[in-house]
Amino acid sequence: MAPELNALKVEPRLWIDGVWADGSGTVAVTNPATGDLLAEVQRGSAEDLRRAIEGAQRAFAAWSRAPAALRGEVLKRAAALLTARRSTLAALLTREQGKPLAQALGEVDYAASFFQWFGEEARRLCGRIQPHPTPGFEYLVQPFPAGVVGLITPWNFPLAQGAKKVAAALAAGCTAVWKPAEQTPLIALALAPLLVEAGLPAGGLQIVTAPGRLVGEVFTQDARIRVLSLTGSTETGRSLAAAAVRHFPRLSLELGGNAPFIVLPDADLEKAASDLVRLKFLCSGQVCVTANRIFIPASRESEFLEHLQPLWLQARVGNGLHDGVDAGPLIHHQACQQVRALIEDALAQGAAEVCVNRTHATDARLAAGSFCAPTVVRGVRDDMALASTEIFGPVAPILTYASIEEAVWRANGTPFGLAAYVYGTDVARARAVAEALEVGIVGVNEWRPLRAEIPFGGIKESGLGWEGGEEGLHEFVVLKTIALPRASVNIGTKENL
Ligand code: ADP
Repeated sequence: MAPELNALKVEPRLWIDGVWADGSGTVAVTNPATGDLLAEVQRGSAEDLRRAIEGAQRAFAAWSRAPAALRGEVLKRAAALLTARRSTLAALLTREQGKPLAQALGEVDYAASFFQWFGEEARRLCGRIQPHPTPGFEYLVQPFPAGVVGLITPWNFPLAQGAKKVAAALAAGCTAVWKPAEQTPLIALALAPLLVEAGLPAGGLQIVTAPGRLVGEVFTQDARIRVLSLTGSTETGRSLAAAAVRHFPRLSLELGGNAPFIVLPDADLEKAASDLVRLKFLCSGQVCVTANRIFIPASRESEFLEHLQPLWLQARVGNGLHDGVDAGPLIHHQACQQVRALIEDALAQGAAEVCVNRTHATDARLAAGSFCAPTVVRGVRDDMALASTEIFGPVAPILTYASIEEAVWRANGTPFGLAAYVYGTDVARARAVAEALEVGIVGVNEWRPLRAEIPFGGIKESGLGWEGGEEGLHEFVVLKTIALPRASVNIGTKENL
């Protein structure tokens, strides 16, 4: 058992109507750095999922009518509790997901920032009175909570991806059924008792670990689910969207990416190289917004690689719980094989490895872990799978370009449109490049632009809708417009008062 579970009052079960419950069967959750078993977690059946939806529907009656300020207070208390317990939560997150402890602490803080932000935004959700073209009438445009929502999250940021959705849904007055990834349900379950302590009524958030396909079927076949919010692969988004035609829940989809990292000819190469290492070592590159294609001016490639190489090799890969580790394992062995196959395919077509960081290989305790050596590959072409697929691993494919126009055109030559990075000292030019890129978010000389206060969402096949910002709240709100007679009351005139 992970020792943090007791401290956080977490049981490896389902969380329905404010209590722990058994499902049918279990799923083994292991530490990807060592292969150690952390817990056998109860798995929900279709019946358990429907019971969870039913409980959320019951809880919706009161929570949706609670004053927005009260809902906001609960969320802000949750933010404070997350912050107070950040060390224990981060240790559990590292054990279950594999990322280094410092990154896990960052994720807990990031998750807390969404509870804080939406706790504040809850009471700013306003309607409006609008003039009617017919005399004697007016319009009320009113926001209402959408209803019960279904949330599905992946294993790369298992706390933060959930926090973004849960906090926004609860702030809007919705109640939620959350299905975490089966590889990382423990950190999700840790939110359950914490939210109760913060004042969330039973049924406000139900958490059911279950196989993705089953959850997709139950959520799309149940007319009570009014918003279906997924962070996952584009393939999963497509299958949910196809099934959603049955009852038309609103779809909020954060899907795959293939982010270009464009180094302009006037860029500070040292900064660009150092930011690239931080970006690619974050969660070992298992991030939808990570840099997937590194575009370098052909004339500056060797200079850039001279900056990149020592930083890439100095970083330490290992068990995230050990001091000084910069990158952990991948989520499982199959992920390592998939990443390696992409590298081998590029090498077979003429690309070359520039440097490979094998620092984990010296630690015998990691022999059973799912480690993938971070690799820089040069000579990559747009048509290689390494450049056209979302790698989801610590690989930096280097592509060279001759003109900025060409770099932008090639950067946009993908069905994905999630994130991009632009490095250059002429900020006006970097901004023009950023504006020409077909993506939802761009970091200019910044490797981690995501924050709770700004909307983040993909375009093209990277998704629908937004998380964070004011817009994140609106994903869980429906508008109702009421046209009604304008009361006409004679209160006299100035002359006869
Ligand atoms: P990843 O490759 O990052 O695991 P997935 O899209 O496979 O991305 O998984 C993200 C989440 O979606 C996980 O919680 C997974 O269980 C869930 N999932 C996978 N397939 C489906 C599906 N057909 N319907 C609903 N959810 C699914």
